[in-house]
Amino acid sequence: MDNCLFCKIARAEIPARKVYEDDAVVAFHDINPVRPLHLLVIPKKHIASLASIDDADTPVLGRMLAIADRLARENGSPEGFRVIINTGRIGMQEVQHLHAHLIGGPEPVGPMLNRN
Ligand code: AMP
Ligand code: ZN
Repeated sequence: MDNCLFCKIARAEIPARKVYEDDAVVAFHDINPVRPLHLLVIPKKHIASLASIDDADTPVLGRMLAIADRLARENGSPEGFRVIINTGRIGMQEVQHLHAHLIGGPEPVGPMLNRN
């Protein structure tokens, strides 16, 4: 995808504070962190969202989760973390390239969502 922000980060065409990269996945700091640790874990392949995956994407989805604990430990969140994948209009996804938010730090991140 020529005009996709996260594809450009994956191809290193625009800068990001990358903390991890392999053949299928890149992780980098969110530009506007909500907690002391806020990483984004993305597939290098353009996948728009969790609503547009196919069977061939299962391995990369597994990889994104499998590296989360290591990324948290290596980046200042050794006692746990939260993964959030916003999807579509209801999930209020803003960037249309699949990404997992990995959120943590030295203190608990807070309630999952505020109850109405
Ligand atoms: P979402 O609302 O789940 O689509 O999240 C998009 C996330 O991308 C937000 O947390 C933004 O702060 C983050 N973001 C947007 N542009 C950049 C960028 N150039 N580098 C790093 N993170 C970004
Ligand atoms: Zn993309």
